[in-house]
Amino acid sequence: MIILVLNCGSSSAKYQVYDWDKKDVLAVGVVEKVTFDGSWIEHKPKGKEEFTLKQNCPDHTAAVELILKTLTDKEHGVMSDMSTIKAVGHRVLHGGDKFTKSVIVDDKALDVFEQVKDLGPLHIPANIMGIVAAKKVLPDVPHCAVMDTAWHQTMPPEHFLYAVPYEWYEKYSVRRYGFHGTSFLYVAKRAAVLLGKDPTKTNLIICHIGNGSSVCCVKDGCSYDTSMGITPLEGLIMGTRAGDMDTATAFYVMRKAGMSAVDMEATLNKKSGLLGITGKYNDRRDIEKAAKEGDQRSKLAEEMESYRVRKYIGSYLAALGGKCDAVIFTAGVGEFSGHLRKKFTEGLEGIGIELDDNANNMAHSRNGEFIISTDKSKVPIYVIPTDEELVMTEDAFALMEGKYDVHTKFKYSFQDKNYVNKARAEGLKKDLAKDPNLKKIVAKNSWAPALNEVG
Ligand code: ADP
Repeated sequence: MIILVLNCGSSSAKYQVYDWDKKDVLAVGVVEKVTFDGSWIEHKPKGKEEFTLKQNCPDHTAAVELILKTLTDKEHGVMSDMSTIKAVGHRVLHGGDKFTKSVIVDDKALDVFEQVKDLGPLHIPANIMGIVAAKKVLPDVPHCAVMDTAWHQTMPPEHFLYAVPYEWYEKYSVRRYGFHGTSFLYVAKRAAVLLGKDPTKTNLIICHIGNGSSVCCVKDGCSYDTSMGITPLEGLIMGTRAGDMDTATAFYVMRKAGMSAVDMEATLNKKSGLLGITGKYNDRRDIEKAAKEGDQRSKLAEEMESYRVRKYIGSYLAALGGKCDAVIFTAGVGEFSGHLRKKFTEGLEGIGIELDDNANNMAHSRNGEFIISTDKSKVPIYVIPTDEELVMTEDAFALMEGKYDVHTKFKYSFQDKNYVNKARAEGLKKDLAKDPNLKKIVAKNSWAPALNEVG
């Protein structure tokens, strides 16, 4: 039985194919430049050569058709025919405050997405197009929507409301929603396994640092506060997004430079953050290299980003009354950049968060779950690679079976202490063969088979 997960952006359609019986990922890929001339598919099937094909996709239906054609292709495909696909999970940016968990997409759900379209004008219309397109091509299977906002619906009103006229909340649904929820859910559940704790008794500070970044304060296993707001613009300094700033800055510059609201929104989302400060780079690897070569703006950008992360960690530690079981890093930067993790935790020893430099330098792969704090650190620091696609797959499967519920009443496979991510465990085995010392930082309770191989 195959579960397909789709993530349709404005000009792309990403996919992952999961074999439910073998508990294995069969293929991942993406169609780029959907709706533009010159689209192409990049397809990575397990155990076969990667494959790229140029084919124009004037709309998302054409992109979904191309994905399915590729998946069932004799040479490059991973399934004999489309009938083995039993459910489709769709990533949706925003569910407003209507959804606290994933749902099967019916007309009512599509209506809600239409209503909140203005809260995510770049993403939501594309998400809807993807769902409509996939329903057309695969009409006989359940289509499920997994929303990035659902996880955060446990935040109390004093955390999610803004101090603006209350009727804005009533009339226009103005409030903090938070994003990256699918990632936070996965990481929070894995953290409970690694800590050997009941997830509903676990307090965490999770830093999802990628191109887009946010921090989530988790109390008793549920989202208690988060740095992103009504849209993903608020909070940390990101690749191209400004994060927190005085709202008046926007009005002031709009008046001074004669900018429209649309231009300002685009500038704060696409030309600000690290790109705005450096003027050149939004990829942290480029910034690190330039900073090391003496580029002052790149150095400044790193200091600004790190200071903002430390500020959030400190404030969430206070929000938890100092009772925090772990600080966790995840996503591209969180998983790979020891250089930035060091900066994100510098000077936090006084509040019980102490990085082990050697351990931190060793952790730079998606294969393992690592502990990178010193033995003295009151709060342990972990690196836990995220797996949003697995959450989507399991939600879609459980919805199809009628066994799904909100995360506090539902057990994911990765909450089992014997859970193994096969591909990652294989990767870890190879990493350990190259560097047996890595064993020292593999978190207790993480997948053991890879460790056993090296004795
Ligand atoms: P997205 O937010 O688009 O999902 P990811 O979570 O994959 O992105 O993170 C992408 C970012 O991760 C890149 O912009 C890059 O800055 C950063 N990154 C990836 N690998 C490394 C690395 N080895 N060192 C530093 N930064 C990295």
